[in-house]
Amino acid sequence: MSKIPPIRIGLGHDTHRIDKGGPMTLGGITIDCDLHLIGHSDADVLLHAITDAILGAVCLGDIGTLFPNTADENKNRCSREMLQLAYAKVVEAGWKITNLDCVIFATQPKISPYRDAIIQCITETLEMEDENVFVKGKTGENVGPIGRGEAIMAECVALLHKAS
Ligand SMILES: [Zn+2]
Repeated sequence: MSKIPPIRIGLGHDTHRIDKGGPMTLGGITIDCDLHLIGHSDADVLLHAITDAILGAVCLGDIGTLFPNTADENKNRCSREMLQLAYAKVVEAGWKITNLDCVIFATQPKISPYRDAIIQCITETLEMEDENVFVKGKTGENVGPIGRGEAIMAECVALLHKAS
């Protein structure tokens, strides 16, 4: 049987629809705008993508199996808490995050003014260094559900290493 290499890569992807009325929870922070994301939990599309990326990297399932949207306990649940619980499972299995690179696809809000705060929230949640997390925004160029402002999408690629 082949040996598992000491690094793993994971990909996370998520989409949530937008509705009128703020504020919006995105990347663990509260953004003061007149839109919010729709979902069973707090609908934090970026933290959901990160959660799926780190779980998938080490084959520990996905956010839907860990936190089913049919469970009352997950209604309006804080995605930071879900991310922390998922990472605790990853750490328990002997892995740590090396770095995360994330993309938020959104027409509104613009991501760049909030980038540093989002990065800080993620690094605090996962006890990482700022230099190991990056988040960028893409506007959707006025086409598709992102460009029309109907939804926000997020992607994350995560590299993990064996904890020594
Ligand atoms: Zn989600």
